[in-house]
Amino acid sequence: MTNARTPLIAGNWKMNGSAAAATELARGVAAGAGDVSAELLVCPPAVLIPTVAAVLGAGVALGGQDCHAAESGAHTGDVSAEMLADAGCAYVIVGHSERRTDHGETSELVCAKAEAAHRAGLRAVICIGETDAERDSGKTLDVISSQLAGSTPAASDAANTVIAYEPVWAIGTGRTPTNDEVQEVHAHIRAVIKSSHGDAVAAGVRLLYGGSMKPENATGLLALGDVDGGLIGGASLQAADFLAIAASCP
Ligand code: PEP
Repeated sequence: MTNARTPLIAGNWKMNGSAAAATELARGVAAGAGDVSAELLVCPPAVLIPTVAAVLGAGVALGGQDCHAAESGAHTGDVSAEMLADAGCAYVIVGHSERRTDHGETSELVCAKAEAAHRAGLRAVICIGETDAERDSGKTLDVISSQLAGSTPAASDAANTVIAYEPVWAIGTGRTPTNDEVQEVHAHIRAVIKSSHGDAVAAGVRLLYGGSMKPENATGLLALGDVDGGLIGGASLQAADFLAIAASCP
């Protein structure tokens, strides 16, 4: 990589695991962390964060998969960014397409969640991505511009924010865009951030690709000039696969 951005390999464990399975997976990731130069992040289900925190060690960062925009209050079933920070998290994913689809989350709400993350001292991993219908009708870059503008707080900078480009049709499907298509979108994201947040933020902010990244396709994706790591779903549930992806970073 010919820039100063440290690659970030993030595992989104989604709604998978038990205390025993999460402990084993976290131990496996922690054991291999010293062999890779990328920064590693794992995002377990909220209920398993304390379990994972107890075994992860300092070499792997911990994150939540979502947070509420408010600090506390009458929000049954929700978790605040402050609670995640208190439990040992350094990051939180916001705006994952499964949240946008399953829970009707708008970019406005995602932006409020990212602001909550910043308020709590967490780094927000803001997810954006087009559906297959939007790609087929040539709207990918417009959708990305709109989601990015709507979901990214004005106070975002390279230290407190990571953007994850995750085409909805590539998540969990085994399908991926071509490397050229990924680079085109990532270069577009960086250009949009340059317009909205300035040169320094655009040059420093890390842009992750997510959607069916595996050890077999990681090398090509992670070598792209504007790809600074990956957000990994299915392949993050096996420590060996997750670490193999991390080892593929240039
Ligand atoms: C994800 O859900 O963030 C994701 C990228 O999933 P997968 O790697 O399984 O496609």
